Amino acid sequence: MKLLLSNDVNEVSVKQLAKRLERMKLQVVLNKENDHHTISIVAGIDKNTDTELFLSLPGVEKIIPFHHKYKLAGREHKSQRTVITVNDISIGDGNLTVMAGPCSIESREQVFKIAEAVSKMGATILRGGAFKPRTSPYDFQGLGEEGLRYLSEAATEHNLLSVSEVMDTQDVDLLAKYVDILQIGARNMQNYSLLKQAARAGKPIFLKRGFSSTYNDLLLAAEYILSEGNPNVILCERGIRTFETYSRNTMDIAAVPILKELSHLPIIVDPSHGTGIRNMVKPMACAAVAAGADGIMVEVHYEPDKAMSDAKQTIDFHMFSDMMLTLDRVKQAIEQ
Ligand code: PEP
Ligand code: MN
Repeated sequence: MKLLLSNDVNEVSVKQLAKRLERMKLQVVLNKENDHHTISIVAGIDKNTDTELFLSLPGVEKIIPFHHKYKLAGREHKSQRTVITVNDISIGDGNLTVMAGPCSIESREQVFKIAEAVSKMGATILRGGAFKPRTSPYDFQGLGEEGLRYLSEAATEHNLLSVSEVMDTQDVDLLAKYVDILQIGARNMQNYSLLKQAARAGKPIFLKRGFSSTYNDLLLAAEYILSEGNPNVILCERGIRTFETYSRNTMDIAAVPILKELSHLPIIVDPSHGTGIRNMVKPMACAAVAAGADGIMVEVHYEPDKAMSDAKQTIDFHMFSDMMLTLDRVKQAIEQ
């Protein structure tokens, strides 16, 4: 439940109240919306807790119950949308965020060349995998730390933020040293020890939906990060497994408006993994923007067919530029 405090309660009193609740073995999270401080009680309440007592605490105006298990990820904890700002780049502020780059970082030259092109065409975040979750153990697994160094240098050179996947708890600190945003991949969405450890690195987390995960599963995975005290989670719809086999995954566009209704967290759509088909990236990116997504993530390479991973879904610079122009128009159209 959430305790709504009256608007004359100051910061000091809020902290005192929070301490008092913590002494009652309750786990609390503070927030401020409009002029009201709030205290969300996320754990510790059981059937013996006299919740009416909270109303008698100084400054408590109202009790708002939580209807979902994802208490912090849900709109009941926070009705205003979360905007995540790193350096001077914001995600979820109403502008379209474009994360672009190769599936895998292959060389210094490769990532620099792609970074230069995508930044000129309007991307603000450079993606690239250095630890790759490949289905086959014999496929290219990524350049590891060397790749992260190239990614970070290319991003800095071209004024971009960087995002890369962390697959293992033992690599969290390494990733956090090089990149601005830590990506948790679809295969690891429910790796709870990884979620917790990544959350504690103090960087925003880009959380991809698992192949077979429901919205509830995704939001509860986000909850693991939020409940570690990291409020900066970006949700990503990247397609799910269905009975359809033509496309690599089935893009669930409805995830965008539904997750926006259920949660205050920004939502990004990845049409590259979502379809697995190069020619479907632009139409699905357009659909995502039309549905209200905060941004997209796409795989880009100057010679897509030669990409060391995910070649079939990777677009070239021309396709990227064409897509960006259309996305601008879609965005304007839905804002009218
Ligand atoms: C990726 O973005 O590089 C990736 C492997 O994606 P996913 O986890 O969605 O498969
Ligand atoms: Mn990929």
